[in-house]
Amino acid sequence: MGFLNCMMDEINQRVKFMQSQDYYFYLQPIEAMDGAWVTVGGRQMLMFASYSYLGLLGHPKINAAAQEAIERYGTGTHGVRILAGTLPLHEQLERAIAQFKHTDDAIVYSSGYVTNLTTVAALVGRNDVVLSDKLNHASIVDGCLLSHAKFVRFRHNDMDDLERRLQQAGDAARLVVTDAVFSMDGDIINLPELSRLCREYGVTLMVDEAHSVGVLGQTGQGIEEHFGLEDAIDLKMGTLSKTIPSVGGYIAGDKEVINYLKHHSRAFVFSAALPPAQVAAAQAALEVMQAEPERVQALQRNVEHFLTGLRTRGFDTLNSATPIVPIICGSDERAYQMARLCQERDIFVLPVVSPAVPPNMARLRANVMSSHTPEDIDRALDVFAEAGKTMGLVT
Ligand SMILES: *Cc1c(COP(=O)(O)O)cnc(C)c1O
Repeated sequence: MGFLNCMMDEINQRVKFMQSQDYYFYLQPIEAMDGAWVTVGGRQMLMFASYSYLGLLGHPKINAAAQEAIERYGTGTHGVRILAGTLPLHEQLERAIAQFKHTDDAIVYSSGYVTNLTTVAALVGRNDVVLSDKLNHASIVDGCLLSHAKFVRFRHNDMDDLERRLQQAGDAARLVVTDAVFSMDGDIINLPELSRLCREYGVTLMVDEAHSVGVLGQTGQGIEEHFGLEDAIDLKMGTLSKTIPSVGGYIAGDKEVINYLKHHSRAFVFSAALPPAQVAAAQAALEVMQAEPERVQALQRNVEHFLTGLRTRGFDTLNSATPIVPIICGSDERAYQMARLCQERDIFVLPVVSPAVPPNMARLRANVMSSHTPEDIDRALDVFAEAGKTMGLVT
């Protein structure tokens, strides 16, 4: 194959180097699972890298719902939703999401990534300004770029900086978009102040709850419940692939916006409907989540246990207050070495390195689940502490 671009060479060389140093942790198949334990490369490992925060992946009621949907409707649909692709299941799921998020209506797309991409691109255009937190997920960034709006990034979770930028943008400011829980740092956006600013400046607020639903709030309803707010967010985005063990994404909001997206957002109009099994699974998962609130409580207890344990052992975990727990290592190399030490001792945890995070802020990103037992958490804390001592991260 001929020359494509230099990025391709660079990436391939980096992968080769990592493999030669035994630093390559990506693309490892998970061969089996049993609660918080998984089989990787034939070995039993304790999972600390999953987004299945409430341990719903493999839940019998959710599996049964997916199987029933296949029996009834098959494995695909008749195409795009707006033409022949809509099933009663899609309408039921959208109603269930709207009810769960306390909005008029909702729309589902085939992934969370695509949801952000197409929604932001449909909401703002050439003459508008879209304001986005510096640490927002790539799908939001890509949506802002695709929209051709003026793309303004404010300092991470810094409401004074946002206000200055809102003033600078003036009447062109249309949309503020942010993660509820930041996917690399695990901290929570200051929603009360953010919402107040958006109201004051007359700007629409869109919040990505990928790591908020099932995680935040007493019953796992998300960031509004966490802060005791209602109607603080205009557009509530979420994914169906994390706490909810399916695939897809959604926007919940006012009827007019949802109706507009159903007729104008390109990922809805030009891409096939979600398959029946995944829609039924998502719907069942929403029901299980609400019927078994003890999972949310167990998750929150585990987060507290794990974060306190790491902090008392001297680790830097930034401002995490959620099941996403960064363990700062420094250089990329040190993060790889930490990951290897932990994986050797059967903790399945993964490194995050630059450019996904700033240079010298490479880290392990450990994800807590409700299905971890207190003993699982203690065992992981012991492994992290010992690896951290070996690496000189803690004393
Ligand atoms: C995972 C994630 C997405 C993308 O969701 P998918 O369903 O995996 O495509 C979007 N935003 C955030 C913050 C995420 O963490």
